[in-house]
Amino acid sequence: MSAATRQALEDFLPAEASVHNPIDMIASATPEGYAQALKILLADEGVDMVMVINVKPLVGNPIAVMNEVGKAIPGQKKPVVAVMMATEEFHNEVKERPDLPPVYHFPESAARALAQLSHYASLRRRPLEREIPVFKVDDAAVATLIASSGNGYLPPDKAFQLLELYGIPVARWQVVRGAEAVRQAAEEIGYPVVVKAIAEELVHKSDLGGVKVDLRSPEELEAAVNDIQASMAGADIASDHFLVQEMAKGGHEVIFGITTDPRFGPLLMFGLGGRYVEVFRDVRFGVTPLTPFEASEMIRGIRGYPLLEGVRGEAGADLSILEEVLLRIAQMAQRHPRIQELDINPFLAGAEREDCKALDVRIRVGF
Ligand code: ADP
Ligand code: MG
Repeated sequence: MSAATRQALEDFLPAEASVHNPIDMIASATPEGYAQALKILLADEGVDMVMVINVKPLVGNPIAVMNEVGKAIPGQKKPVVAVMMATEEFHNEVKERPDLPPVYHFPESAARALAQLSHYASLRRRPLEREIPVFKVDDAAVATLIASSGNGYLPPDKAFQLLELYGIPVARWQVVRGAEAVRQAAEEIGYPVVVKAIAEELVHKSDLGGVKVDLRSPEELEAAVNDIQASMAGADIASDHFLVQEMAKGGHEVIFGITTDPRFGPLLMFGLGGRYVEVFRDVRFGVTPLTPFEASEMIRGIRGYPLLEGVRGEAGADLSILEEVLLRIAQMAQRHPRIQELDINPFLAGAEREDCKALDVRIRVGF
């Protein structure tokens, strides 16, 4: 409420009244006082809707209050509802009165009605957008890639290739076998690099010591490979293949996903990613076909969105690329129903387009 509104309320209410939201007119409030307060509130640009509450008085008839409320609202476009803790006879009477706003028994139901109204208004404000962008993608190559492996999780090289075919940026990578090939790959990619163990049964690689980041020299690389091999041996996981990646810097870790619901079909997911995704569960879902507006709503709808906008001098993320990736994944889900599960976690969202890339991906195919 504006300062002027509060002043106008103070001018006629007793000093003990509260002129902050929610306004408390205290027990001495008169029916005319209700009308006056209502008019002042409805004139304030910052007020969208008003709930008038009258606790059952010991003496006097709440119908007098309702009559005054009814006089204050003609021509009014803002929703007004009333809550009257009164008798059944009273409620039966006001129900028949077209000049009165809806009158509820309890504030909970009134609040729910206003909340639904607000939700409905926000749906009505959405643009009538039916345009679904179509990305030019080599779907035949994607289908071949999917067909070339059986049901289950794709090996990482195929999973990254699939993202690349779909125009989703990925950190430079190579899949190689043995320590010498890791060294060669690191030279080609350029230090600093990241090395990860690869094995079918390896799901959370970092939990088992299967991820080493920011390796700056052949010596650090060799030590990291030895560490990974020791960790894998300790966990009884046979693995002589490695994923070598460029070391990506800065940005925010987000997650993109596809899950398949037996009734809805593919569901798209977006949220804050990285290691804490399970802790915060800050994700939003969407269905295909996805419009650009819906993609942007999914991204803006997570609780952590201010992080992506940039807080306290920290750089934000390039939101346009996030929307684009979501739309590309939606197209992938629609055109390739054999993809039953996809998890890009993390996707690093940097401030510039070239700082945005997938760092880890899992894709499960089935029928
Ligand atoms: P997993 O999810 O199987 O444990 P990830 O490949 O997601 O393994 O790696 C775990 C974490 O390591 C990521 O959340 C990210 O913080 C970091 N990380 C992984 N790959 C890179 C990379 N190429 N550059 C920078 N950091 C990385
Ligand atoms: Mg991961």
